[in-house]
Amino acid sequence: MTPSETNNGGRKDVLVIGGGIAGMTSAIEAAEAGCQVLLVEKAPYLGGRVAGMNQYFPKLCPPTCGLEINLRRLRQNHRIEWMTMATVASVGGGPGAYDVTVSAQPRHVSDACTACGDCVKACPAERADEFSYGMGRTKAIYLPHIAAFPAQYVVDRTVCPPECQACVLACTPKAVDLDERPQTRTYQVGTIIAATGWAPYDAKRIDNLGFGRFANVITNLMMERLASDSGPTGGKILRPSDGAAPKSVAFVQCAGSRDENHLPYCSAVCCAASLKQATYVRSADAEAAVRIFYIDIRTPGRLEDFHQKVASDAGVELVKGKVAFVDEDPATHDLIVEVEDVENGRKIRQTVNMLVLATGLVPQAEGVPGGFSLDEFGFMVNVASRPTLRAAGCVRRPGEVAAAVQDATGAALKALQSATRSARHG
Ligand SMILES: Cc1cc2nc3c(=O)[nH]c(=O)nc-3n(C[C@H](O)[C@H](O)[C@H](O)COP(=O)(O)OP(=O)(O)OC[C@H]3O[C@@H](n4cnc5c(N)ncnc54)[C@H](O)[C@@H]3O)c2cc1C
Repeated sequence: MTPSETNNGGRKDVLVIGGGIAGMTSAIEAAEAGCQVLLVEKAPYLGGRVAGMNQYFPKLCPPTCGLEINLRRLRQNHRIEWMTMATVASVGGGPGAYDVTVSAQPRHVSDACTACGDCVKACPAERADEFSYGMGRTKAIYLPHIAAFPAQYVVDRTVCPPECQACVLACTPKAVDLDERPQTRTYQVGTIIAATGWAPYDAKRIDNLGFGRFANVITNLMMERLASDSGPTGGKILRPSDGAAPKSVAFVQCAGSRDENHLPYCSAVCCAASLKQATYVRSADAEAAVRIFYIDIRTPGRLEDFHQKVASDAGVELVKGKVAFVDEDPATHDLIVEVEDVENGRKIRQTVNMLVLATGLVPQAEGVPGGFSLDEFGFMVNVASRPTLRAAGCVRRPGEVAAAVQDATGAALKALQSATRSARHG
């Protein structure tokens, strides 16, 4: 293993783990109130899952607008030190004075990168594009996504051919260093905010719905990428099997959620997400038919107006029924969906061109050091007697962006209170 370089990063009031919308919000709010903040993100870019979305419900605006405002606040604030490709390796000490070790993986591209793309043209190796959930490919040296912050390439050394120096030779500003080593930095911090978010439930585990076996069964996150201009199809919703535009698309709600065999809880956003994606399909093709199979539609508060608006479209049908089984017509790669139609007391068999599984949210709490408490489903729990350990956003409970932002702002306030107390007593 390559030895790492160790540096002392000094004292910070707040450590935020996770640079999605919740973590960025906590970091910015705490810093704007006067705290010194360290923000640690494991991906090569900030923004989390939101960065890959096509539009936000209920306004159907691009998420990049909100992200851009936060990134501007972050860039302008000298009290925030942020690191990408980094994780917290260990936490020692105690409340108000945690000793933290952060490990940063090498990006192999320095901030001298101008994102000109010459390295990509020269690179001979490819890898699956994880930002688009494996749909599409990137070169071994790649920009994580078109609006990535930092706008800096990264090298996946696991796919580089031995001895290859093509990107190094192509880079005019000499930003590529294939020998860069991992870094370790130590800090002392007052409060730790965990905002490590969520991952999609592994749809392959839901045997009866055919994901991974049938090409045209996709997940809701894949649909976000297909509909996005920066996605693998340039924003065209096309079937993976043959690249044809689907004329009929069905959505399976609670794919894994509210199911004792998978995720026993409601993931809170999947209903609004599918209603939103129904609008993607309908605006791409006014002739396309959408059916949403649901147990209950859960769209509380202002989302209910959005639900009613989408439901009033004659091309969108909502059917209360649990999908029992999915099969594929091997000749056409269409999907045959078997559903228990609860309201009419009958079984339906419907053939559709494409099927979207509204898979649920799984908290990303595993491996986050510091001794955060977890509930029975693995979500982090805030304990009143431990105000210097706070969880915010979807790692605490599944929900929409607005809820994650409010949660993260509350966590920043707790951190500020703790910093003020330390200053008074210290
Ligand atoms: C299909 C779908 C569509 C959606 N559409 C909408 C919508 O239109 N409108 C809306 O309001 N909400 C929508 N949501 C919900 C939205 O995605 C969440 O509210 C949002 O992602 C929550 O942000 P977060 O920061 O809590 O988590 P995340 O976005 O998951 O960010 C967490 C960050 O932490 C990082 N991280 C994880 N572990 C570590 C670690 N150990 N160390 C360092 N960093 C780590 C991750 O890399 C990531 O960057 C949708 C959800 C789905 C499933």
